[in-house]
Amino acid sequence: MLRQRKADMKTSKRPMELSLRLAMYMLKNKLTGKKRYPLVTMLEPLEMCNLACIGCGRIHEYKPVMDKMMPVEEALSAVEASGAPIVSIAGGEPTIHPKIDQIINELVQRKYFVYCCTNGILLERVLKKVPPSKYLSWVVHMDGMEERHDEAVAREGVYKKAKKAIETALEGGYRVCTNTTIFRGCDVDDLHTLFRTMTDMGVEGCMVSPGYDYIDAPDRDLFLTREESKKEFGKILDERSTKGMRLYNNPLYLDFLRGRREYQCTAYSNPTYTVMGWRKPCYPLADEHVTDVNELFEESLWDNYGVGKDPRCSGCMMHCGFESATVFHAISSPRDWVTLVKSGAIGKSGITAS
Ligand code: SF4
Ligand code: SF4
Repeated sequence: MLRQRKADMKTSKRPMELSLRLAMYMLKNKLTGKKRYPLVTMLEPLEMCNLACIGCGRIHEYKPVMDKMMPVEEALSAVEASGAPIVSIAGGEPTIHPKIDQIINELVQRKYFVYCCTNGILLERVLKKVPPSKYLSWVVHMDGMEERHDEAVAREGVYKKAKKAIETALEGGYRVCTNTTIFRGCDVDDLHTLFRTMTDMGVEGCMVSPGYDYIDAPDRDLFLTREESKKEFGKILDERSTKGMRLYNNPLYLDFLRGRREYQCTAYSNPTYTVMGWRKPCYPLADEHVTDVNELFEESLWDNYGVGKDPRCSGCMMHCGFESATVFHAISSPRDWVTLVKSGAIGKSGITAS
């Protein structure tokens, strides 16, 4: 019965066009001599959420503007100003935004590759207004199997709802990924069961990233140091244990998490637009909000941020800063480029950030 159900379920796939478009976009920038440019626009059209996860910084940081909803035109203009071919919609919980369907549908129509992050609670409602497209993937937040996930999001029943939403989306022909944030004290076996379950359900892939030590998060003991992250990811991403599981991050970033490679952060790749403007310098840090996205690509800015430059960067291994670094580095390293092409991973450049 279960086998029949698995056979009936659709497995979502990342379109080849995404890799090709991103590769062409990067080569074009390289030929014009541009050093810093965006790969993914992180769009936060609201900061309100229907959950209060234990590791979330956003819902505290943006408390004074929690009820602000970004107008559709403003969201589209920000994406256009950034110019990145991929858009990752986050927040807050995007499905709460009253015009999220219009924002997504407009971006898809303009052929941006859209990844919409969600906790899944209201996803089925939004599916009715947003048709499936190769340009759209839902990214459902899953921090563990039922007990672990419900504990991380501080509410019972959320795992079941999110899993049901994933099933409905896959059955409806949507592309679906999951994203999992790793915190101190994570249960490695439980995570493997989660990745196996999601793979069997037919998701395109499971993204992983260590949580960032947000100053506004309620429990900062949760966050791993750099050395702890490498140790935990060494176990979580053990090749034998994860064989057959569909992991979405690119293999170079997975090696970085395992502690086998070092990179400097290239967070200018993921400019983040919020209801207060562009976060400067990056997705995790906002020392200020600015109106001009080009301020995020200035050479002098990056003299001050990154590992070894700002103490707040010392524990950061998030995909928004480092998965892109693997891609930028690979463009000058034929061997790494081949690794990315072989794995079909050119388009995986730090899409979500949770
Ligand atoms: S982590 Fe995401 S789902 Fe959880 S409270 Fe924050 S915005 Fe909401
Ligand atoms: S390492 Fe990069 S992405 Fe991480 S906090 Fe520092 S500047 Fe931001």
